[in-house]
Amino acid sequence: MTQKEISEQQASLPGSVHHLTGYVFEDAFMSYELDFGHPESPERLAAIGRRMEATGLAKRVTRLAPLTRVVPHIRKIHTEAHVTAIQALKTIGPVAELAVGGALAAVKAVCQGAVRNAFCAVRPPGHHSLNTGREEGFCFYNNVAIAAKYAQDVCKMPKVLIVDWDFHHGNGTEASFYDDPSVLYFSTHYALAYPGTGYPEKQGKGQGLGFNINVNMPCGAVDDDFAGVCTQMLVPRADAFKPDFVIVSAGFDGHANDKLGCFDMSDEGFAALTRIVMGIAHRNCGDRIVSVLEGGYTPEDLAGAVCAHVKTLLEYEPENKLTANHEL
Ligand SMILES: [Zn+2]
Repeated sequence: MTQKEISEQQASLPGSVHHLTGYVFEDAFMSYELDFGHPESPERLAAIGRRMEATGLAKRVTRLAPLTRVVPHIRKIHTEAHVTAIQALKTIGPVAELAVGGALAAVKAVCQGAVRNAFCAVRPPGHHSLNTGREEGFCFYNNVAIAAKYAQDVCKMPKVLIVDWDFHHGNGTEASFYDDPSVLYFSTHYALAYPGTGYPEKQGKGQGLGFNINVNMPCGAVDDDFAGVCTQMLVPRADAFKPDFVIVSAGFDGHANDKLGCFDMSDEGFAALTRIVMGIAHRNCGDRIVSVLEGGYTPEDLAGAVCAHVKTLLEYEPENKLTANHEL
């Protein structure tokens, strides 16, 4: 039985696993601070944990335990020198591995059909990680890029779509797959912010040309701007690509009043983006989505946006048709 047949069978069973959303959250993710008062703080995860409990969402998601012994998978994206350097960081090194393990557990559970989709509330984030042997933009290992490789190599999902709606450009993810046509990377971001990359002319190279899509959004961009860009630029490309698996670099620093961002998005805006991505996954790959936390630096706003995202992953039922815009 193929994964698609398994997914279709699960979809037909009321109350089946098809309606379950996996959730990764570990106290250990709050066990380090980059610096006193740093915006990438343990309080970000604490706020998410409290809000998940207060809204009742914590009881409705299926907790997933991070995989262990993940270094061989990390090595698919990062060099030996980088891994050695990060492992030498006494407090953060093990937590960075645990975050990767969380993302991989989510991919595994979705591939096996144990859950329909999953959200990973992890620290540290990952999409700026390079192979420099040090932190890049609060990131150490590229959780999402490693998860995409794992989906391909272990779960036998050949084509992976990565949607990155963090305020910042995922330069590490772009670098990981820049010449690779098996991973379609789509990013909306503010290109003048850190790390200063992400211009639209960077479309990939060699075989990967056309599989890297950067959309630079202006300061003050609102929910409808992002929904419009995703409907017009992401949906047609994603449906033509026909991914076997979808991964979201879920940064919420585009939320209004974020400490580091300048976009003006609301919780509902992130729910709308979630529905668009769920539509892509429904049409192409049996609803398989793993979403992994990236940024979001005003803890209570982050918590609200995360809960809107998780509630949508749990409840929304995409229709099996293309959007009106896509038919044009
Ligand atoms: Zn960010």
